[in-house]
Amino acid sequence: SDCVFCRIVAGEIPATAVLSTDCAFAFLDINPLADGHTLLIPTNHAATLDDMTPEEVAAVVSQLPPLARALMAATGADGYNILQNNGSVAGQVVTHVHFHIIPRVADDGLGFRWNAGLYPEGRAAEIQAGIKAELAG
Ligand code: 5GP
Ligand code: ZN
Repeated sequence: SDCVFCRIVAGEIPATAVLSTDCAFAFLDINPLADGHTLLIPTNHAATLDDMTPEEVAAVVSQLPPLARALMAATGADGYNILQNNGSVAGQVVTHVHFHIIPRVADDGLGFRWNAGLYPEGRAAEIQAGIKAELAG
């Protein structure tokens, strides 16, 4: 495989593993944003979350609560961000689904960019109709 995360799961590339099940694997990010920055991934390759079945996603995501508790206890963090990028436009660099778990402490300087906007009249309802039609479709 030419996928770096598949190679990590296969043991062909070393990684600092912290969790391993049939469906999920977690290891420390090689370039951490904070101590304990961890990546949780499905063991089977999928490029983006929408390529996975709900069951496959559930088997991975169900590891988040124990993993988050363990990271906080082990690093002394008081909170954490979950970040999951899909597509290069969204900042995804490694095209194997991964959840970033980023431990946070007060004044860690990591910051948080959230450039919120405002819907013009009618636009939210338009988008709602589009999404609901797709889901029903
Ligand atoms: P993305 O931008 O795709 O959401 O994030 C990819 C993440 O994978 C980055 O934070 C990067 O540091 C991490 N990463 C890339 N290659 C490796 C690797 O070979 N080993 C580990 N442990 N992390 C990696
Ligand atoms: Zn892969």
